[in-house]
Amino acid sequence: MHHRLSEYDTTQQYKAKVIESHRITPEDSEVEVRHIVLEVDDPAFKYVEGQNIGVLAPGDPSLGGKPHFRLYSIASSAEGEEGDHKRFAIAVRRCFYIDEFSGEERKGIASNYLCDRVPGDEITITGPYGGAFALPSDPHINLLMIGMGTGIAPFRAFVKRIFKEKGQWKGKVRLFYGAKRGLELLYMNDIRNDFSNYYDQETFKAFEALSPRPALNAPVALDRSIEENSAEVWSMIQDPLTNVYVAGLESARENLDKAMAKIAGSEEIWRRTKANLVSQGRWFELIY
Ligand SMILES: Cc1cc2nc3c(=O)[nH]c(=O)nc-3n(C[C@H](O)[C@H](O)[C@H](O)COP(=O)(O)OP(=O)(O)OC[C@H]3O[C@@H](n4cnc5c(N)ncnc54)[C@H](O)[C@@H]3O)c2cc1C
Repeated sequence: MHHRLSEYDTTQQYKAKVIESHRITPEDSEVEVRHIVLEVDDPAFKYVEGQNIGVLAPGDPSLGGKPHFRLYSIASSAEGEEGDHKRFAIAVRRCFYIDEFSGEERKGIASNYLCDRVPGDEITITGPYGGAFALPSDPHINLLMIGMGTGIAPFRAFVKRIFKEKGQWKGKVRLFYGAKRGLELLYMNDIRNDFSNYYDQETFKAFEALSPRPALNAPVALDRSIEENSAEVWSMIQDPLTNVYVAGLESARENLDKAMAKIAGSEEIWRRTKANLVSQGRWFELIY
């Protein structure tokens, strides 16, 4: 379900201290994503896996100073980051866009504000919001998780929750994750691989989907990776004990719909299958 940003309640605000900020994409990549650990020292602030926080970036005083409100997915399980329940992580991509009128490159306000913070800085956050992108409590449910880019954040929280804290998960857990280059697979690359901690779990398999041509604007092969595993993906989707989670940019969902239409046999079959998943409460989206 999509809410307008103006519909979010931002009256309850918390101070969050920046504990850590690390770039988790290579220096020579055009994409800068930072792993930012925040600490909220207030017992009233509680979250679960799959929720988002709001960030209030200071507004431009020359434009009236109204804070700039944006949402970010929590990348930690409810246990907190490194066992500290006051701390949690977000993965922020530094955004730029071309101004339609001037043609100049502009910086995204909230993402640049966050990426420029250093340890010790304080920011204002709200939330957490959203309970719909949630893990089932029954460990026999199969989890099909599909994400691109910073859409990996909630899955980092899910996987940590079910394997580290619950100990095991009986249902199949499949993660399809796409990026343009190996090192842009956040939390799943040679420098930082949080997911590899769980590769020995019997029920867990992660599939990397890399672009065949690691150039700017090259398509990501998420669809190909799903098609290569079509038999398993399709049998999971048919199984009433499977939940499907899709996270990341709108373009990832479009990409996914195309791949699914192929393995379903037609767009129409996929449209109906997806409608069933939605009506059975087995389809979950965190799209932006
Ligand atoms: C539920 C949810 C979860 C999210 N989770 C994450 C996350 O985990 N990590 C993450 O990095 N992001 C996440 N986002 C996206 C994030 O909320 C912001 O939208 C993003 O960081 C850009 O915000 P900004 O303030 O930096 O940029 P803004 O100042 O809002 O502008 C950046 C974007 O707005 C558009 N734009 C604005 N003005 C113009 C203009 N004049 N002309 C053309 N385009 C324009 C462009 O598309 C541009 O890319 C999430 C969003 C949602 C809704």
